[in-house]
Amino acid sequence: MARATWRERIDAAREQRVASARVRVRRTVTQRDGARCVVDGRSLLNFCGNDYLGLSQHFAVVGALQDAASREGAGGVASHLVCGHHAIHDALERELADWLGAPRALLFGSGYLANLAVIQALLGDEDVCVQDRLNHASLIDAARLAGCRLRRYPHADAEGAIRQLRGMPEGMAMIATDGVFSMDGDVAPLRELALVARVQKALLYVDDAHGIGVAGPDGRGTVAAAKLGTADVPLQLATLGKALGGYGAAVVGDAGLIGHLAETARSYIYTTALPPAQAAATLAAVKLARNEHWRRNKPEELPGRSRERSQRLGLELLDSQTPIQPVMCGDDERALTMAQSLEQAGYWVAAIRPPTVPEGRARLRVTLSALHGAGDVDGLVDAIAYARDRANIGRTGLPERGLALVR
Ligand SMILES: *Cc1c(COP(=O)(O)O)cnc(C)c1O
Repeated sequence: MARATWRERIDAAREQRVASARVRVRRTVTQRDGARCVVDGRSLLNFCGNDYLGLSQHFAVVGALQDAASREGAGGVASHLVCGHHAIHDALERELADWLGAPRALLFGSGYLANLAVIQALLGDEDVCVQDRLNHASLIDAARLAGCRLRRYPHADAEGAIRQLRGMPEGMAMIATDGVFSMDGDVAPLRELALVARVQKALLYVDDAHGIGVAGPDGRGTVAAAKLGTADVPLQLATLGKALGGYGAAVVGDAGLIGHLAETARSYIYTTALPPAQAAATLAAVKLARNEHWRRNKPEELPGRSRERSQRLGLELLDSQTPIQPVMCGDDERALTMAQSLEQAGYWVAAIRPPTVPEGRARLRVTLSALHGAGDVDGLVDAIAYARDRANIGRTGLPERGLALVR
C-alpha cells in the first residue's frame, strides 16, 4: 500500500465535508455586550452561548479578574504540583466544595481535561466504562484514551446500563453520564443510575457542565436536584466556562478519589495551572450564582414560554425543561439554511450537525439565559417559524446544495 500524503488526506476529507454540507466555519465576534454580539459588522442577539446566568461580563466577576491579575499576573506559571498552585486556587476549591456539598474539589484547565483525568486515572484495560449514547464527546474520548472497555447504552436508559454492567462482571466499573445533555437539554435519570451503580458496585460520575449554576437548589446542579450526594455520586464535574461565565473546570466529590486524581491524573499533572486571576473571577461568580437566586428566574421561566410559542407554531422540540431548547431540523442543509435566515433576521443560533449529534438529527441549538427578555424569546421563536417556512419553499423551488449554503 502506498503511503498517503497529508495533503491528499486533508483534501479528501475537505471534499467530503463540502459534499455533505458539513463544512465548519468559525465566526469572529468583534464585540460582546450582554446577549448582543457584533459579527461581520452586524449586531446579533445571541442564542447560542452558555452564559446562562449572565455572569461572564458581570462587574464583580470582571473586577475580581482585573484585581487578581494586577497583583498576581496573567499566567499560571507552572503546573499545580510544581509551583503553579496558588492560595486563590485553594479558596475556589473550598468554595466549590462547600457550595456543592462535597468534601473536596480539584481545579482543571477545562472540562475536557477534567473528563480525561477522571476516566484515565481510574480505569485501565481490565475495567469498563458504560456511558449514555448521547454523552459529551470528551467523555467518550476519555474512555478511549484510558484504554478501558467502553459500552454505550441507549439514551437515558438505566436498564440498558445495568444490562451492560451485568454482562461484564470483572474489573472496576464506572457509569458516566452528562447531567444535562448538552445538545438535547434533557436531564439524566440520576436516581435510577445511582441505584444501578449501587447494585453493580460501579462508580457513578456525572458531568454537570450545563446543570451547575442553573439546576437544583441554589444552582447546585442536577445531582442535588435529584437529592443525591457524594455517597451516590462520588465524583461530578462542574465546568467554570458555562453558567459561571469564566474558564476551567472542577471535579468535586469524595476526598480519597480527588486526592488520587491530584497525584495521578495525567491531564492534571502535565499541564499549566489555571491562571489565579481566572480562579478569582470564578470565585466571585460562584458567590453570585449561590446567593442571587433571581439570576435563575429567567433561565427557569423562559424555556416554558419558548416551548409554548414554538408548539403553537408547529416547531419540533425535544423533551427539555432546561435553558437548552433545541429545534429539530432533520437534515443538515435545512439546519444551515434556517440558521442563515435567522441571522438575516438578527438572531444568532448555532446549527448543530453530525457528528456532534446523530445522523438525521441536525438541529438549531437554542440556549436561553438571564440576558434574554420575554420579547427576545418571542421574536426568536417567530423568526424560527418563518425560517422553517422559507426553508420549505426553498426545498420545493430551486435546488440549493453544497457550498452556496455554507459561509
Ligand atoms: C462543555 C462541556 C464539556 C467541556 O468543558 P470545557 O470546559 O468547555 O472543556 C464537558 N462536558 C460537557 C457535557 C460539556 O457540555
